[in-house]
Amino acid sequence: QAKHAGRDTYRFFTGQMNTDMRARLKLEIALRQAIEKEEFVLYYQPKVELSSGRIVGMEALLRWERPGHGLVAPNAFIPTLEETGMIVKVGSWVVATACKQLAVWASTDIGQVQISVNVAGRQFLEGDLEADVRAGLSDNNISGEMLELELTESSLMANTNCTISKLRNMKQLGVQISIDDFGTGYSSLAYLRRFPVDKLKIDIAFIRNVISVPDDAAIVNAIIGLAHNLQMEVVAEGVETVAQLDYLKRHGCDQVQGYYFSRPLPATDIETMLREHKHLNLV
Ligand code: C2E
Ligand code: MG
Ligand code: MG
Ligand code: MG
Repeated sequence: QAKHAGRDTYRFFTGQMNTDMRARLKLEIALRQAIEKEEFVLYYQPKVELSSGRIVGMEALLRWERPGHGLVAPNAFIPTLEETGMIVKVGSWVVATACKQLAVWASTDIGQVQISVNVAGRQFLEGDLEADVRAGLSDNNISGEMLELELTESSLMANTNCTISKLRNMKQLGVQISIDDFGTGYSSLAYLRRFPVDKLKIDIAFIRNVISVPDDAAIVNAIIGLAHNLQMEVVAEGVETVAQLDYLKRHGCDQVQGYYFSRPLPATDIETMLREHKHLNLV
């Protein structure tokens, strides 16, 4: 009896495993095709400077126009790209595409807007990000100041010596560095001081309830203070309400990003927005 049950359990487990593996494999194959057929596209979300109400930058956010599936958000496929190492190739494409977009915008009446690009851990550690950035800047004749790289705490802390030299090389190109999702990883404050980082981005998790949960407000205030004391700028992600915006303004946050201003949009919609609302009226 016990043996029988055990065997059933085992059989069920393999069956489930096969299903998961098949789904994963299918996704992997589809992603390889997506790279070849260039099914990826960048959406952009504005970053607003609180002191002026100006749109000072855009975050490039990856989307996959998967045939038969519509527009797919990154959480559904970035983990697979990371596990398989394909993220290195896709990450290079993201840097190249963002730089091309910068050149397009620079050639119009839109004016100066920085673009920030998300960099995955494996891309930073295993890829040649510096070569990608150099190529992107020189191929499109743009200066490094126009580009910002968003790295997470975990990729920065993975190999700290190597990280510092890679970041220094990037800084020599004029590129800005920010730490994304700050507060959710485990940054060593001792290293934070040694990294040539320009900006901290407060994770959406702390902004969500900043008005209603005193502990979250305390964390937000602490991150703003930490950034400023280390001569860094600070950005709040995921601002959805006027109350959040007002709080961040009163507490000295430098920039905000979130659905309150705009969802991530295709480049053409961003152009329209920039023409019409280069200065956003903040309350
Ligand atoms: P992230 O870099 O922290 O980006 C912020 C995410 O929050 C984006 O989700 C954005 O659409 C979303 N968001 C912005 N404002 C609001 C808001 O007011 N409310 C809420 N609820 N969400 C908001 P998205 O575009 O789905 O991207 C998710 C994550 O995928 C990104 O988090 C980033 O870690 C990763 N990702 C996106 N594009 C790339 C890329 O090109 N390369 C790499 N390596 N990762 C990327
Ligand atoms: Mg980001
Ligand atoms: Mg983030
Ligand atoms: Mg995130």
